[in-house]
Amino acid sequence: MSKLSPMMQQYMKIKEKNKDNILFFRLGDFYEMFFDDAKIVSKELELTLTGKDCGTGERAPMCGIPYHSCDSYIAKLIEKGYKISICEQEEGPAKKGLMERNVVRVITPGTVYENNLLDESKNNFICSIFLSDENLAFCACDISTGETKYTLIKNDESTRQKLKNELSKFCPSEILFRGKVDLLRSLTDFIAKKIRCSVEILNSELNSVNFFESKVLNQFSKLSESINNNTEKIICLGQLIDYLSKTQKDVLKRINTVSNYSGKEYMSLSYNSLKNLEIVESMKDQKKYGSLLWVLDKTKTAMGKRLIKNIIKRPLLNTERITRRLDAVEELMKDIRVLDSIKEGLKGIFDLERLLTKVVCSCCNARDIKSIGETIKKLPELKFTIKNFSSSLLKNIYGGIENLKELESLISNAIVDQDIPLTLKEGGIIKHGFSEDLDEIRNILVNAKDYIAGIETKEKESTGMLKLKIGYNKIFGYYLEVPNSQKNKVPESYIRKQTLSNCERYITPELKELEYKILHAKEKINNLEYKLFLEVRNKVAENLEKIQNSAENIAKLDVLVSFAEVSLKNGYVRPNITDDGRIILKDSRHPVVEILSDEVLFIPNDVNLDTDENRVALITGPNMAGKSTYMRQIALITIMAQIGCFVPATEASVGIVDSIFTRVGASDDLASGQSTFMVEMTELAEILKNASKNSLIILDEIGRGTSTFDGMSIARASLEHIANKEIIGAKTLFSTHYHELENMESLIDGVKNYNIAVKKKDDGIIFLRKIVRGSAKESFGIEVAKLADLPEIVIKRAQEILEDLECGNSVYLNERETLINHNTEKQTRKSSYELNEDIKNILNEIKTINVETLTPIEAMNVLYKLSNMTNKTFFNCA
Ligand code: ADP
Ligand code: MG
Repeated sequence: MSKLSPMMQQYMKIKEKNKDNILFFRLGDFYEMFFDDAKIVSKELELTLTGKDCGTGERAPMCGIPYHSCDSYIAKLIEKGYKISICEQEEGPAKKGLMERNVVRVITPGTVYENNLLDESKNNFICSIFLSDENLAFCACDISTGETKYTLIKNDESTRQKLKNELSKFCPSEILFRGKVDLLRSLTDFIAKKIRCSVEILNSELNSVNFFESKVLNQFSKLSESINNNTEKIICLGQLIDYLSKTQKDVLKRINTVSNYSGKEYMSLSYNSLKNLEIVESMKDQKKYGSLLWVLDKTKTAMGKRLIKNIIKRPLLNTERITRRLDAVEELMKDIRVLDSIKEGLKGIFDLERLLTKVVCSCCNARDIKSIGETIKKLPELKFTIKNFSSSLLKNIYGGIENLKELESLISNAIVDQDIPLTLKEGGIIKHGFSEDLDEIRNILVNAKDYIAGIETKEKESTGMLKLKIGYNKIFGYYLEVPNSQKNKVPESYIRKQTLSNCERYITPELKELEYKILHAKEKINNLEYKLFLEVRNKVAENLEKIQNSAENIAKLDVLVSFAEVSLKNGYVRPNITDDGRIILKDSRHPVVEILSDEVLFIPNDVNLDTDENRVALITGPNMAGKSTYMRQIALITIMAQIGCFVPATEASVGIVDSIFTRVGASDDLASGQSTFMVEMTELAEILKNASKNSLIILDEIGRGTSTFDGMSIARASLEHIANKEIIGAKTLFSTHYHELENMESLIDGVKNYNIAVKKKDDGIIFLRKIVRGSAKESFGIEVAKLADLPEIVIKRAQEILEDLECGNSVYLNERETLINHNTEKQTRKSSYELNEDIKNILNEIKTINVETLTPIEAMNVLYKLSNMTNKTFFNCA
């Protein structure tokens, strides 16, 4: 260590305290990384790895990033899950020797608050979890907006599922965990591959409850009873506060309230349901395009964008709350002109929540303050547009948007309107007329410039050097410039400073004195401007709660307006919200498909589900008929109704559903190394274990991933289980290509057969897209294949084989005959054909035997081989 250069010694000391993080070490205009950090960063960011002499003669690996463009580099490293310690050099005039350096900020994925490093349409949550034997305390906090929420989950067999659901909704970028790690371990794959966030496991023994309690009490002056009486919540909140305080000391000022929520307030939507129903992103490419959010989000502000996303993932369960939202949406829809003026008012509103965090963390510049000023200037007008509404929610919003006139005029009087500088210490921020002191010094400067002009004229006249000029440069300051042609007239009193090829430059004591005044005034101005700026900034910070309150209400208004706009544009109807468990829809449409397929008319369909006679809709129909679309449409409409939006139908009555479970499509989960079938079964298991009679279940072609008999058996057993009122009895939409299951209607009450009609033509079929009672009679697989443009020759051959199978006898079916209905024999035989690929192989093998030339030994071998193949086939069938 002692052999290292002083700077390197300093580096090592700081690095020692920031071992787990990449240390950004400020050297002049660069952040430098050394040793392993340098190797990692150069690899991850594709930067050149160089070296620096560290005093021992050896060169330390080094790489650097210019400080003024470090944002994109930081964002990339954080995205990859690294944590960064930012080490700055002490500000102020340059000192001799080694500069003081300190870590001023630790950036981890969950503690980023700078809006240029974040996506404005997404919250950036850090979740804190404490697991005890009895409970799991869960807290989610977005420090970029100040939002902090917590809940307590009972520690029982469903904890894992509930935690998964919470994580799916918050999508945190970082998790802090304390407690028995088994639970977390069982979610390793889910967290790493689905949520994609980093996890910090905190040492359980390290701190006492008192330690956390003091942290929490320090942070929140008033603590609600509900936290006070619960150690788990205190530890959970305390560890979060402790962690945040280590990353940036000021950030905690942003968290002034923490709210309690309960899982019982919201519809339970699992990760799979959110994904399968394409609530916030499409399955195809994980983009917003093509999702429900994409249809419903017409918000104008960043705050509204974040809120609508949170709302859509949390449909409500309380009839009153839903009705309140629907009332507001309905009222907004009544007058298009008013709606338009609110929309207009929402445009140009800046992201107050994130700007506030920057203010609190003292990293905002004058442009940020100006943005806040411009936004609050718009509030009175925005308030005015919603003044006359009578629905309770809009009235509350009206009351919640604060009047900040005083602050607004302070900002508009203080900060210049144009060319607002990004730096804070080089002046140019404060308007004329804001501060007398400032204007006075500025006057000195203006006068001094006049004075300089005066000196120039005076010198020209007294010396007769008419080409004399006064100039300025950084090295010599102000000087008198005389061209060589007039050099001989230069008086004795001039002091020569510089000789150029065509002129000479001089100074005089008078000029230098003035120069001192000017430069001194400049410094004074800059300091004063900075001081005034800080005063304005502090005033903004003093109004934190009022601005935050306004921001929240603007966000709510933005979302309601968005619902109203979409409902009007797409012709939605207000749903009647009930608690009778019935979902009755007339002419309902799929909200996304109807927009995506704008060339073809979307065919509306009715829905009739209840908790009794019409509990399970068993839907058959050829591929491509529209089964999946119909089922998802019902789930999406239920969600839309429960978030308080109008729905795509002509009449709708929606009985509140407390959870939606889905198993759709055959999406292979290659990333987690699971086969299609395994994924399907895992998802099915999750549903069977967690659904209740108040759930809505969507099972799309269960059993598709395995052989016919297996699949059909699993499908039937699941159906029996779900339909049984004693066990689950949930409302269920169940599509299947096993036509044999149509029998279930007569065997289990509550099951009703439906199919999506197709019309047969001479040369193919037409999809009618209409749901009708009864099961489909044919599967039309070959007709659908024809539509897909399969080669003519293959189609023809398929038809031949089908006909063959239809009249031939199949011996391999007998054992499961009970499942088979006569009407659908054709379908089953076709399936048996698929099943017996192995037997085809055996037959082929036999065909190749040339009995005439076979020797006895060869005959033995052939028999041995055939016998082996038969055994294998037997196992497969079994
Ligand atoms: P299935 O699940 O029966 O194979 P899908 O639900 O995937 O069928 O639908 C097949 C295609 O039909 C989709 O491209 C969809 O856009 C279209 N479609 C489905 N339902 C309708 C409808 N009611 N009106 C118009 N097009 C529809
Ligand atoms: Mg389908």
